[in-house]
Amino acid sequence: MTFQSRNFHTVVVGGGLVGKTAALALTQSGLRTALLATPAAPAPAAGSFDSRIYALSSSSQALLERLRVWQALERDKLGPVLDMRVFGDAFAELHFSAFQAAVPQLAWIVESSLIERSLDAALRFQPNLTWIDSRAQGLTIHDDAAHLTLANGDTLEADLVVGADGAHSWVRAQTGAKMLRRDYRQTGVVANFKCEKPHGETAYQWFRDGEIIALLPLPGDHVSLVWSAKTEHADTLLKLDPAQLAAEVEKATQNMLGALECVTPAQGFPLALQTVDRLIGPRVALVGDAAHLIHPLAGQGMNLGLRDVAALAETLAAKEAFRSAGDPVLLRRYERTRREDIQKLTLACDGLQKLFAMPGTLARGLRNTGMALVGAQPLVKRWLVSAALG
Ligand SMILES: Cc1cc2nc3c(=O)[nH]c(=O)nc-3n(C[C@H](O)[C@H](O)[C@H](O)COP(=O)(O)OP(=O)(O)OC[C@H]3O[C@@H](n4cnc5c(N)ncnc54)[C@H](O)[C@@H]3O)c2cc1C
Repeated sequence: MTFQSRNFHTVVVGGGLVGKTAALALTQSGLRTALLATPAAPAPAAGSFDSRIYALSSSSQALLERLRVWQALERDKLGPVLDMRVFGDAFAELHFSAFQAAVPQLAWIVESSLIERSLDAALRFQPNLTWIDSRAQGLTIHDDAAHLTLANGDTLEADLVVGADGAHSWVRAQTGAKMLRRDYRQTGVVANFKCEKPHGETAYQWFRDGEIIALLPLPGDHVSLVWSAKTEHADTLLKLDPAQLAAEVEKATQNMLGALECVTPAQGFPLALQTVDRLIGPRVALVGDAAHLIHPLAGQGMNLGLRDVAALAETLAAKEAFRSAGDPVLLRRYERTRREDIQKLTLACDGLQKLFAMPGTLARGLRNTGMALVGAQPLVKRWLVSAALG
């Protein structure tokens, strides 16, 4: 992709999965688009796993299908989730199944690098897309366009700048949007394991001592761990050697999947809640973690970000011919479409995190009774599944 023009309909800042998907969706809607992103990281060696794994909902699958990215993913590397078992920190257990919810699967477990490679391949074929390997470092808004200065000295003009630059978004800071951040004082420890017993395409989740441990089914006899651990405990877990970590996970998951063998180095991600007072500014729209940061206990952050992308691309694709991509009317339409979904999911994930972090016997009794009640109500369970499916 060569540098062709300094004038774009849209410039996407940030090359995470949300930014790349945004660039592809916008360019496929016929908008001349620039993507500011570093070149893709090399793929993991054949036969090895990426330690970044996402549980993708049907809304994400639908968007990636529309963009012809899903069809290019290697089938045997996609792990369907057919069942989900959630264990409370006392007597309660919840079971959700794709069969009962009358859906083909509850989610797909996909390696980050797999989606990234497929997105990169699709982006390479877009005649309207200019990929620029530089960071944005200056933004001024004019009546007729946004002007972006890049670290490599170039300047770009765009009708709209899309901030897809993650939780510490530079674009968001330029808009003056107010951001509230609450640190969960937890770290998400992720690693992949080979498991002795079949996982049966089941996602497992345990709430334990204010921490949350999830084992997500990868293809074959592998699972992916997301352990939302208190910071000091996570620091200890991250220092363990692979065999010690596997032993800790076996213990914490009551040997549900038998002996585990750690096959990727553990990585840690500090967890926080972030909300912003607006998703838009003059000639700016925020998507993905730049717009919202939620606890990973429901595996929904990426799904939420991809729904931002779908909404923004649909809004711009349906724009009246006389409006530019940065028209405030369009930006307000985008923001209106996204508000409710973001608020609901943010509240739900934060509420659950708080509920299970609350110490004391009374709190434990109440939350486990609540779980048991939900488990006995097929309609409530179906509602929860449809909310999680997106
Ligand atoms: C432990 C854990 C498990 C998770 N599991 C799931 C899951 O199962 N399912 C799910 O849906 N979500 C999950 N999430 C959430 C998900 O990881 C995030 O929501 C998602 O990665 C956000 O993607 P993004 O592209 O918005 O941001 P990022 O991935 O942070 O990408 C932002 C990009 O912008 C670039 N950038 C920053 N500043 C600039 C600049 N000035 N100029 C140019 N580029 C810039 C950065 O280098 C980066 O490449 C999980 C999160 C954690 C922590």
